[in-house]
Amino acid sequence: MKTVTILGATGSVGSSTLDLIERDPDAYEVLALTANGDVGKLAAAARRVRARRAVVADESRLPALREALRGTNIEAAGGIDAVCEAARMGAGWTMAAIVGTAGLKPTLAAMEHGGVVALANKESLVSAGGVMTDAAARFGATLLPVDSEHNAVFQCLDPANADRVSRIVLTASGGPFRERTLDEMRGITPAQAVAHPNWSMGAKISVDSATLMNKGLELIEAFHLFPVSAEQLDVVVHRQSVIHSLVEYVDGSMLAQLGAPDMRIPIAHALAWPRRMATPCQRLDLATIGRLDFEAPDYERFPCLKLAREALAAGGARPAVLNAANEVAVAAFLDGRAAFLEIAAIVSDTLERYDPAAPETLDQVLAIDAEARHIAGERVKDCVD
Ligand code: NAD
Ligand code: MG
Repeated sequence: MKTVTILGATGSVGSSTLDLIERDPDAYEVLALTANGDVGKLAAAARRVRARRAVVADESRLPALREALRGTNIEAAGGIDAVCEAARMGAGWTMAAIVGTAGLKPTLAAMEHGGVVALANKESLVSAGGVMTDAAARFGATLLPVDSEHNAVFQCLDPANADRVSRIVLTASGGPFRERTLDEMRGITPAQAVAHPNWSMGAKISVDSATLMNKGLELIEAFHLFPVSAEQLDVVVHRQSVIHSLVEYVDGSMLAQLGAPDMRIPIAHALAWPRRMATPCQRLDLATIGRLDFEAPDYERFPCLKLAREALAAGGARPAVLNAANEVAVAAFLDGRAAFLEIAAIVSDTLERYDPAAPETLDQVLAIDAEARHIAGERVKDCVD
């Protein structure tokens, strides 16, 4: 029996993880499930998998959670410290699937007892890459990438030849606006931006996919996960999302991982690692797919990708500021307080206004994150619509 905890259990990645676990209930013992505030979904999942504990980060939802768990012996808890406590219950395998830097502390807490941390929460690596990878090494935790591109790279990376990798190429679907001109991107609504052509995901990452900031965050994520320099990381637009990423070796070989665009495949890879497990996911019929297309990304139409590349190259606190400003800008866009094209402007202006020294500790990362959010929030007030 594998002991499992899911941080962000009510989200898109959390639900896909639960789907896999529920197909083989005897193989897993669920210690804790956490969510922000969706008590109904959290309690229903906790009952189904007979979790030991269910936790809401939003403490005001705790009475409702208690009510929803009445008649069970599932423990209920509330508040962000309780989420971290749940992460410390000692699960052998933890899914870190909280969205945004809100996931940073719980993910670090999950590393403290060693064990495997399956990492979906890319924002924590972007803003605190060094702090996270140092913590994993110090506590003897194993970080397994769940993001489909990074999971693909992990699968293609031969540990015996890690020093013979010449390049890592992340594939990008190009998002729903791949073919639009800048002018055509002006009136984009949140509903249009979250409707991704290939993947079904949470709102924030869907908007990031539409601006290509997601690919930028993924470049920074890859830099922290794999033994390559920033210059060895590339992006290619591949609209079918069949090849999930590639590793090029010094001899000219390129290895790729292919699969249906279904997050249950990379999640299953991390869940069963170092073995493999069966999934109900669709198999690829290459003859039906017929062709795979590739093109270079357009940094003019997708300035967020450029901003992220520059932040990666500059290093220090730049990725943390970029990430925080992006979270504020995306939330403002989703609330109708900023236009789609203003997301890049908010991020760019925040980077221009705030250039702190490189953080070395978690507290320094959190202070930079808070200040960048404040500056980005002020900038949002200048947005017209
Ligand atoms: P989502 O919005 O569907 O779910 C987010 C989860 O985090 C929910 O359970 C929510 O309750 C919880 N949460 C939100 N704010 C919180 C807070 N302040 N404190 C505690 N919990 C909070 O998001 P998602 O699409 O599942 O993505 C989760 C993470 O995985 C993101 O970092 C995303 O970039 C990454 N990711 C997602 C996908 C995908 O296919 N959805 C693919 C690759 C990577
Ligand atoms: Mg991805």
